[in-house]
Amino acid sequence: VGVEAELKDAGRSRHHSIAIVRRERVALVTPLTMFGYDDAPFGHASVTLDGVRAESFLGERGDGLVMAQARLGPGRVHHCMRAIGLGERCLELMVRRAASRRTFGRWLLGHGTVQHGVAQSRIDIDASRLLVLHAARLLEEDPAMSAGTRGVIAAIKVFVPSAMLRVIDRAIQVHGAEGVRGDGVLAKAFAGMRCLRIADGPDEVHERTLAGLEAVRVLGREVARERLSSSARSSKL
Ligand SMILES: Cc1cc2nc3c(=O)[nH]c(=O)nc-3n(C[C@H](O)[C@H](O)[C@H](O)COP(=O)(O)OP(=O)(O)OC[C@H]3O[C@@H](n4cnc5c(N)ncnc54)[C@H](O)[C@@H]3O)c2cc1C
Repeated sequence: VGVEAELKDAGRSRHHSIAIVRRERVALVTPLTMFGYDDAPFGHASVTLDGVRAESFLGERGDGLVMAQARLGPGRVHHCMRAIGLGERCLELMVRRAASRRTFGRWLLGHGTVQHGVAQSRIDIDASRLLVLHAARLLEEDPAMSAGTRGVIAAIKVFVPSAMLRVIDRAIQVHGAEGVRGDGVLAKAFAGMRCLRIADGPDEVHERTLAGLEAVRVLGREVARERLSSSARSSKL
């Protein structure tokens, strides 16, 4: 369990700790679904923590953010790689459907709007793949994550789920009613990808990181801090 507890005189990055909690102190309130899916095999739940004493920490008190970031950087690359794989699958389904259904006297694939959707989806997937490859390479060369690497990690987290949502949405449209059936691949893909824009931090928070880094790059740290809003000052620029 991550806990926020401001340690006296601690730096901004040392306000969080990760505490180990005994299993019997965790009670299930209700299992949760995402857009109706249980997200098996792990799923999500609302729980209560009862009588927990924050006494067993992973590492030292205040290490929480550093430990979480060490996991989150590669984790975000991994999420994006899987998202791209899902996008590829949905684009393939889209093309197959467009080549097997006729409306208004021609195959769907013969309609210009469908060709536009197929082409834009290929562009979304390949742009995502190149950005993620770039991020993975930077992470490998710079595991301590300098500003440039953190910026690209933030960029993939914002760009890829939205780009893959566009791909999935186009595939749904080409499938018509078949695309929105609850037991179908596309509806589940859409639900999962939509959640990814929130899980691991909402898009806006990663955009905030990117905007801060750009401001520092162009204006210098002092001016950037002054011109960004007061809440942005707490970001690690
Ligand atoms: C499927 C799923 C899996 C998850 N898995 C995990 C997990 O494994 N571990 C974990 O720790 N958490 C997990 N989460 C939680 C997730 O990290 C949080 O839901 C997320 O960070 C948003 O926090 P919040 O829900 O409190 O929303 P809030 O912080 O209340 O934010 C709500 C909205 O406000 C806006 N917003 C917030 N901050 C800003 C800002 N600075 N600028 C502009 N707009 C802003 C955004 O639109 C945002 O979506 C998961 C969530 C989901 C949905």
